[in-house]
Amino acid sequence: MSTRLRGPAATIGTETIAAYEARVVAQASAKGLRITVDVRTLIAYVNGGRWVANCPHCNSGIAVHPDWRYAACLDCLHTYAAITVPGDRVAVEDALAVRPVNNQNCLPTETAAQLHDENTRRGYGIRIAPPPDPEVAP
Ligand SMILES: [Zn+2]
Repeated sequence: MSTRLRGPAATIGTETIAAYEARVVAQASAKGLRITVDVRTLIAYVNGGRWVANCPHCNSGIAVHPDWRYAACLDCLHTYAAITVPGDRVAVEDALAVRPVNNQNCLPTETAAQLHDENTRRGYGIRIAPPPDPEVAP
């Protein structure tokens, strides 16, 4: 399954899990740090059209792909294989897709139904017909 939102490819330039892992190895080498496997579970959420999670070790933002069971913090070099995404993820992505990117946000506690309600209240996804062109005869 793919995602309608931005994942690691758009945020850190990694198209695959292997590329993500290679990026972490390169970062570890550049920083002179060890990579640490962390067994804690990341909680994915959407911020500005991007799937992300907070690193439970250092609280930095982590690029997440909702289909991948791998993510890593490029700051502290902890890696994670347990990532929770919303159960109604496709519906969440559909609800957010009608919004401008900067308003594509979903906290882990929000549901697709809540996002649709918010869309209605804020007028997202409602097409307004342009005024008739006065140069064109009806
Ligand atoms: Zn971290």
